[in-house]
Amino acid sequence: MELLVPVLIVFALSMLILLGVALYIPQRRARRRATSAALPSTTPPATAPALQTVEPLLETPEPSAGRLVRLRARLSRSQNAFGRGLLQLLASDQLSEAVWEEVESTLLTADVGVAATDRIVTRLRARTAVLGTRAPQELQQMVLAELTAALEYADSAAAAQGQTVAFDRRLRSDRHEDRPAVILVVGVNGVGKTTTCGKIARVLVADGRSVVLGAADTFRAAAADQLQTWGQRVGAGVVRGAEGADPAAVAFDAVAYGAREGADVVIIDTAGRLQTKVGLMDQLSKIKRVAQRHGEVDETLLVLDATTGQNGVAQAKVFTEAVQVTGVVLTKLDGTAKGGIVLAVQQALGIPVKLVGLGEGADDLAPFDAGQFASALVGVTE
Ligand code: GDP
Repeated sequence: MELLVPVLIVFALSMLILLGVALYIPQRRARRRATSAALPSTTPPATAPALQTVEPLLETPEPSAGRLVRLRARLSRSQNAFGRGLLQLLASDQLSEAVWEEVESTLLTADVGVAATDRIVTRLRARTAVLGTRAPQELQQMVLAELTAALEYADSAAAAQGQTVAFDRRLRSDRHEDRPAVILVVGVNGVGKTTTCGKIARVLVADGRSVVLGAADTFRAAAADQLQTWGQRVGAGVVRGAEGADPAAVAFDAVAYGAREGADVVIIDTAGRLQTKVGLMDQLSKIKRVAQRHGEVDETLLVLDATTGQNGVAQAKVFTEAVQVTGVVLTKLDGTAKGGIVLAVQQALGIPVKLVGLGEGADDLAPFDAGQFASALVGVTE
């Protein structure tokens, strides 16, 4: 009996120790698994020619909501004359043929384009005749409503008959279950492509997404450097190639790297300096094809410089033949009185303007909104 008590105590203690070990080991394993899942791999991509992920002082970009309201003054400054001119004309004592012709030429001067101008003037004529409207404020509201409708809908003719199919302006940038969303950015040299890639990265980072930038403009080392600086400012990784490297390979590596790192979005900047249309078409379609080996490209954005007016529309047509463009970014709208180009581009291409560039500042890029844009065009301040 005397012996039994210590034996029982030793036995109980051993059981307690064994139980503790049994409970502790699985917990430790689980903790280790959780830590390794949370840590992104820091190994650079095997195939990527060069990669820089950056730590230094990160900036906090502005949220994208409400940007067009903030930047509207930039637009109004250059467009007010257009709005005032229209209202003065419409407020004439007699809405004669001559006045309507003037209204038409004012719209054309603002680059609204022939088809859209025709439609707007026809509807304004009908409405002023039926309603007998003469008060400046009513006229202003009428012009505003016509412009908003013309900007909002994919086909204003259909809209006039009550079939309102508004353009879908959402930027398709939602991560897929197993891979990042991919945005391809195309356009001729100098329109603001690289700047736009950087600005879009900031919009996405501001909305809480992780971004990788791919510098597939390998013709110009400066373009890749520029992109790298944009990336550094918001902590986005940049995949770049040696000068003259195959742009399609860089695009492929960028998407592969983004997928490995669990990034939400990969944005690919491309070159636009190809001399021949055939060369351009070949290269862009190759970049897109190769990038798509990982999965569909979600968004192909065509960047157009608003100051080039109707030339931009002709340029756009070449690109739409090479790749299927899903959205337009109209840059430099702060530097032109031809805001009507938005309408012309949408009507000619049947593709929505999704973003507008209103300055050289890092956050001077805004999601497009038809109502706000039309108000700025006609000088309504609300
Ligand atoms: P890329 O050759 O198409 O890549 O053009 P860049 O991105 O290098 O831009 C060319 C120039 O346009 C740069 O000086 C930019 O700062 C300027 N830029 C780009 N977007 C805008 C904009 O919305 N407004 C103004 N005023 N300048 C812009």
